[in-house]
Amino acid sequence: MSKGNIGVTSDNIFPVIKKFLYSDHEIFLRELISNAVDATQKLKTLASVGEVKGDLGDTRVRVIIDKKKKTLTVQDHGIGMTADEVDRYINQIAFSGAEEFLDKYKEKTEAIIGHFGLGFYSAFMVSDKVEIFSQSYQPDAKAVHWSCSGDPEYTMEDTIKSERGTDIVLHINSEFEQYLEDATIEGLLKKYCKFLPVEIAFGKKKEWKDGKEVELDEDNIINDTNPAWTRKPADLTEEDYKKFYHELYPMQMDEPLFHIHLNVDYPFNLTGILYFPKIKTNLDVHRNKIQLYCNQVFVTDEVENIVPEYLTLLHGVIDSPDIPLNVSRSYLQSDNNVKKISGHITKKVADKLAEMYKSDKEDFEKKWDDIKLFIQFGMLSDEKFYERAIGFALLKNIEGKYATLEEYKSQIKDAQTDKDGNLIVLYTQDPDANYTYIERAKAKGYDVLLMDGELDVHAMSQFEQKNEKLRFVRIDSDIIENLIKKEDAAKDTYSDEQKEGLRKAFEAILPADKKLNYYVSFEAAATDALPVFLTQNEFMRRMKEMSAHQQGMSFYGQMPDQYNLVLNTSHPQIQALIAKMTSEEVEEAVEKPAAEGGQTSNSDSAQTSEAVQETVKKTVYTLSGEDEKLHQLLDIALLASGLLKGEALAKFVNRSVDLLA
Ligand code: ADP
Repeated sequence: MSKGNIGVTSDNIFPVIKKFLYSDHEIFLRELISNAVDATQKLKTLASVGEVKGDLGDTRVRVIIDKKKKTLTVQDHGIGMTADEVDRYINQIAFSGAEEFLDKYKEKTEAIIGHFGLGFYSAFMVSDKVEIFSQSYQPDAKAVHWSCSGDPEYTMEDTIKSERGTDIVLHINSEFEQYLEDATIEGLLKKYCKFLPVEIAFGKKKEWKDGKEVELDEDNIINDTNPAWTRKPADLTEEDYKKFYHELYPMQMDEPLFHIHLNVDYPFNLTGILYFPKIKTNLDVHRNKIQLYCNQVFVTDEVENIVPEYLTLLHGVIDSPDIPLNVSRSYLQSDNNVKKISGHITKKVADKLAEMYKSDKEDFEKKWDDIKLFIQFGMLSDEKFYERAIGFALLKNIEGKYATLEEYKSQIKDAQTDKDGNLIVLYTQDPDANYTYIERAKAKGYDVLLMDGELDVHAMSQFEQKNEKLRFVRIDSDIIENLIKKEDAAKDTYSDEQKEGLRKAFEAILPADKKLNYYVSFEAAATDALPVFLTQNEFMRRMKEMSAHQQGMSFYGQMPDQYNLVLNTSHPQIQALIAKMTSEEVEEAVEKPAAEGGQTSNSDSAQTSEAVQETVKKTVYTLSGEDEKLHQLLDIALLASGLLKGEALAKFVNRSVDLLA
């Protein structure tokens, strides 16, 4: 038996391991199993070139818990190690400037482990003592037993071991007894080892028999050694891809829409399958994440720094030994390989979509609503993706017809270009709510887009930025004659004074609401349009909607909603009301309260002048002798825009019944 000190320059590596690696201690299992898998694959390689002769026998890696002895064993039948090799690979950890390095990467535990080949030593995070029993494949090699109790001293001696390969025996520390529980270990194996290339056995298969769970004689294999992404696309059917999707996400019920099989070996190594899920709302996002593997070993499902953010909406796996896992997350983004990988994935995704669009437009249109959010997110966040996607990103009109922006522009060019040469795209976010406005647009031969998606307002702003003289306007943001202004636009013949009386009358009865502002305006709309209706300025409304998603725009978010109460001067009802409220009557009404409030009128107090204003409004309004009609007209406008609610709605209903009498 020999004794020695583990060759690290730092006096004692173990306190460091325990201290810094504490948070991620579960990865010890992944590290030990990776070593076991490597040793097994090396053996298979040697056998394939004839260096190891005869039957390899059982090559499964086994994970064995002994509750009585409080040990967890990772057993393989791989190449094993001679005493010499244990000395070289385990005792002499090449380790220079250890402390300096550890200082630098304090937060990133995995960095230390991978970088210095400390995989094996991670076992000490959870163990009081670790033993190695190993029998090398080499003829005449003696089996070796190595043991170390968490200090730099180890012992090493010859031993007898009947089977080739290595047993790593962990004497689990009392603080970590969860690692002696079947459920914990099974959970970790499922997380990290689900697709390892060598079979991992954990206990025996179980079956329900007569209401009892009985153990079968068969090994419980926890992994799929041949996952779909490692196979050739030509060897896989649609069904295989779907089956694998559910293997990845057992809790996911929905089928993916389609997939992309990635396979690159130059200038970097990358395989994987990306799935397009149906994404309808933000809520669906990030429920299932892309999983990152390194040679079939699960590494993480936090891929934010490896693929562009919008691609994280996809599902699936990426496997690449070329993604540096041993560096800090912020470093990852600037890594050249990572940049290339990210660029490659983006290109592949865009290519796939373009190809799908080209080969079967109808089918692509069917999928559009489900992938729209993803594509818009991509276009908004990645200029390169925008350039590619503009060729297949679709717009949908209220009849359900699809077109790319360029196609759509040429479709509406003749009818919807205004007198200044602006091409006006009309849209609605809610066809039911905007019904009357849509009807007016249709009557003029205009087309209306349905833009009810979460990112639609952002998308249309982007289209406007990239296309000169292209404007998107919601169908209810002005009267249709103003939305698309033509040379022969109608004008009314009333002077401002003539209209003043009716304006004041309506101002007097506008609903008071802190979150809503109304402005009364006059427009010569169509004769058969409503006498009074509401419009909402496109710019302000859109800014408000965009502020909901964007930081630094809360200024707009806090603004009250603004509506124009449009009085249609082409409508006979409005014309009659204007005529009724001549400017003399208004002047009279203005003078009367001013004279009545004689003593106070000299005082400049704002309160007084406000009170006078109030009286003026009321007087003007009463003067008209048309209280009911004005209220009715206003309520109809509010109702048409879905703003008549509660008590006001009840009053409207009652008044309408009375008017029938
Ligand atoms: P790494 O795996 O990153 O090289 P480790 O500390 O995990 O670092 O292992 C060091 C070396 O010990 C391995 O490279 C391998 O040569 C040897 N080794 C570890 N575990 C086994 C095993 N189960 N069978 C054979 N060799 C092993």
